[in-house]
Amino acid sequence: MYFLQVAVPLPLYGLFTYKSDVYVDSGCRIKVNFNNQNIIGLVLDCSESNNNNYPDSKIKYIDEIIDFEPYIDKDSLKLIKFTSEYQHSPIGMIVDLSQPTALRKGLKACRQPIYAYKLLNYNYKTRSDKQQKILKLLNNQTVSLAEFKGLNVHIPSLKVLEQKQVVLKFDLNSEINTDIFKNLQFNNKHVLNNEQQSALNEINNANGFKVFLLHGVTGSGKTEVYMQAIENVLKRKQQVLIMVPEIGLTPQTIERFHNHFNIPIAAMHSALSERERLDNYLACRDGRIGILIGTRSSVFTPFKSLGMIIIDEEHDSSYKQQDTCRYNGKYIAIYKAKISNCPIVLGSATPSLESIYNCKIGKYQLLKLNSKAFVNHGKVIETIIDIRNSVLQAGLSDYLINAMQTELQQGNQVLIFLNKRGFANRVVCNDCGYVFKCKFCDSFLTYHKTKNILNCHHCEANYNVPSICPNCNSANFSIIGNGTEQIEEFLKQRFPDYPVVRIDRDSTSSRGKLDSYIEDIKNNKFKILIGTQILSKGHHFPNVTLVGLINVDQSLYSNDFRATEQLAQLYTQVAGRTGREEKDGKVLIQSYSPNNLILQTIIGEGYEKFVDYCLNERKYLNLPPFSYQALVRISSSNKETMNNCAYEIFNTLQKISRDPSVTVEPPRSAVMEKKQNKFHVLIMIQSNKRKNLSLYLDNLVKELANNKINKKTEIYIDIDPTEVLQ
Ligand SMILES: [Zn+2]
Ligand SMILES: [Zn+2]
Repeated sequence: MYFLQVAVPLPLYGLFTYKSDVYVDSGCRIKVNFNNQNIIGLVLDCSESNNNNYPDSKIKYIDEIIDFEPYIDKDSLKLIKFTSEYQHSPIGMIVDLSQPTALRKGLKACRQPIYAYKLLNYNYKTRSDKQQKILKLLNNQTVSLAEFKGLNVHIPSLKVLEQKQVVLKFDLNSEINTDIFKNLQFNNKHVLNNEQQSALNEINNANGFKVFLLHGVTGSGKTEVYMQAIENVLKRKQQVLIMVPEIGLTPQTIERFHNHFNIPIAAMHSALSERERLDNYLACRDGRIGILIGTRSSVFTPFKSLGMIIIDEEHDSSYKQQDTCRYNGKYIAIYKAKISNCPIVLGSATPSLESIYNCKIGKYQLLKLNSKAFVNHGKVIETIIDIRNSVLQAGLSDYLINAMQTELQQGNQVLIFLNKRGFANRVVCNDCGYVFKCKFCDSFLTYHKTKNILNCHHCEANYNVPSICPNCNSANFSIIGNGTEQIEEFLKQRFPDYPVVRIDRDSTSSRGKLDSYIEDIKNNKFKILIGTQILSKGHHFPNVTLVGLINVDQSLYSNDFRATEQLAQLYTQVAGRTGREEKDGKVLIQSYSPNNLILQTIIGEGYEKFVDYCLNERKYLNLPPFSYQALVRISSSNKETMNNCAYEIFNTLQKISRDPSVTVEPPRSAVMEKKQNKFHVLIMIQSNKRKNLSLYLDNLVKELANNKINKKTEIYIDIDPTEVLQ
């Protein structure tokens, strides 16, 4: 008899014991009955002795074994355990989010065979036309079954030839499984400047695990450093993982790597089909691909021989999963590099404060690219426009509109940046002041004129535009605030001779749309570009000579201490869209607080001065990276249940002994208390020693695992939270 420790995909802490008559290795999936549900669990330990409190007879048998051999390697299991411990999250949930859906559903962890045929007996003679056609096709080459079908070949004749051993049927996949590094070639090799070369040398000389921060100003040629560092890894016959932000993974990104390396490259992101994800997962595990490019969850993909990890745009918030089981893909990746004993390169033009701080204390090594890689680049002039006492049209000041006019008349392109989709933020009743709100969230609805709907930006619920006010039956409504759609409408009227394009999530929702817009912008098809965050990244638009940012004030006065950091990053990225080639560029920022010190630092002195300023402020206030935070997030569809549970947890926390450095705040409602039809409350725990915080949370996890706390609510622990108000 064997006793198995099993992780189940439910938000419950701890492993569950089952028994089996046969040995099941860790890393194998099994089917079990859990509270009358049939679920798939992952075996993490198998032993002959029962270390459980329950007698043998009370322990259930497993129902079925799915894998007889582990499909996950030991390193990947280690990574899952680390993630669960670091994040203080139920291990079954981490197993669940780390696996492709197909594996979670119980599909076999093996490739689908691709059947193909080759000729065995070259001397075989036949009078059958159908057979002759097949033999002719197979002369000197292999042909897959799918190709035969496409060529309208008589399949029964093929079967006959197979039986006579004239042709051989085989799995094409198993043939491809040869050395992918054999005919390695590199194209488009650039000559690096001194800075790039010395950064590359440092990375190439890393002997095993090391974290680098590649801080390269916009246009300094980070990509070239990545490319040549990758070359070096591939030459050693090792694989590379490249992580990119969610909106950075376009077909163009993948194409760029394809053009450079003649090695199998695969992508890993949510737009792939279940089968594609599984195939890429297995290909990576078995060493059949050289480079994997993926979003945050790709960090859990197993590698046969991982030689380097690159995290591009390392400051990007999409590396952090913000719902249910939260984790930070960046920190998991650093641990993955440690297990694989390989270097990891975090790259950005605007690194996170945490990463810069880690360089200052010697945890990471800083590599800087200060100069532009291309000789021809323009000057950029940055100006704050004081919009106090000015009349705005669709949120734009006369100063900005006139500046646009000047640039457009000279044949240049202008970019107006705003982080708000839709037409207007709020729809208000003129007679009673009623504001249309979402039924499921504490949020106002945004009017989307193109679709003629009201949309909630927090739960994506859509509503028809009502004809009368539900409060007073009036039919007089006003719209307040500006969205991308409203600016688009205004600019089309104001500048009828210049084609306008709006780039936001609504206008680029269909696949390939963003790429075709970007192409059209580069070909000068559009003159006025209106965009949200999607446009702030990486794209190179040589003809953009004016960038206007129109609502930055909100970030300056946010209660979230990270808001100014995000503003500085966004501003620097957006400003980097101009002055990319010979042409000079202008950046205009509209603000109601032109004298704000932070704004002036970001604009007048640049990102690095801002970082110094901001780090001093964080140190003074004892905020991360000078302290460590964890949020216990409690949510429920019933407000009372949630509040009771929150206080139960708070009382439990009070009883757990803790280091004096650990502070616990009483439960407080999230800024948006009701979101997606659930109520949310937060308990903030903080310490300036990570270890003490972690030990304290370990004890909380023990309490949660012992079922002492009401389970009718969802409880998640969020380590290093990046959204502390929500
Ligand atoms: Zn009304
Ligand atoms: Zn909503």
